[in-house]
Amino acid sequence: THFGYETVDENEKSEKVHEVFEKVASSYDKMNDAMSFGVHRIWKHLFMQRLNPPHGTELLDVAGGSGDIAFRFLEYLKNQENPDNVPSHVTVCDINEAMLNVGINRAKKLGYTDENQINWLLGDAEKLPIESDSFSAYTISFGIRNVTRIEKALDEAYRVLKPGGRFMCLEFSQVNNELLRQMYDSYSFTVIPVMGQIIAGQWKPYQYLVESIRKFPDQETFKKMIEDAGFRSVTYENLTFGVVAIHSGFKL
Ligand code: SAM
Repeated sequence: THFGYETVDENEKSEKVHEVFEKVASSYDKMNDAMSFGVHRIWKHLFMQRLNPPHGTELLDVAGGSGDIAFRFLEYLKNQENPDNVPSHVTVCDINEAMLNVGINRAKKLGYTDENQINWLLGDAEKLPIESDSFSAYTISFGIRNVTRIEKALDEAYRVLKPGGRFMCLEFSQVNNELLRQMYDSYSFTVIPVMGQIIAGQWKPYQYLVESIRKFPDQETFKKMIEDAGFRSVTYENLTFGVVAIHSGFKL
């Protein structure tokens, strides 16, 4: 490949992903801000606005180790009137303990310690340790790209959602403007690994990051994969010219 990684088989990919997030966990927040110039916060904010969860939502946030989506979810609901005190809940599931610990520590700092509101689960998106028909919403933010068998993760998302439940995914996608794509490519191929070295002291994990973005299916292909898993009314929205996209679907 461009980045010195050989073509990896499925087991190797899982190991590689695990190693990558083990290495970047402690500098995860700093790197996100640096690489996206803080824009990932806007993308995540918009993602939550599009989900627009009502009180009573039981959310499963997969690959959610850092807690970014879970905290936004709780914050969003806190700002909506709730005269009947309907409780909501989020389960954060991640395959990597170090990433979960990043989230758990942030939760303590933010005061989100009530297990009735949030809990943390070690688990693989491809084989969720969760009963079928359990959640009213499933989110995955900058996570599905790292999963070895995307189809399996989508099948699992479908399985654990209740009928009527909503799937939402925020992920890097394909830039739709040729000139911008060229600029974006040169930025990510050259600047991101260098930033990784300077800020996080790690070069290779950020090479992996760029490579995984390039390999991820484009908006239409991913939409079709979501439909193939059984979801209906599947739509997507490009943010920042398709640098990222929000895909949404329903289990009907
Ligand atoms: N959702 C967070 C966000 O938006 O900032 C974290 C995204 S981080 C780039 C990707 C996360 O996916 C890591 O925490 C990693 O451990 C997790 N991950 C990778 N493969 C996974 C899998 N098969 N199942 C669950 N989580 C996985």
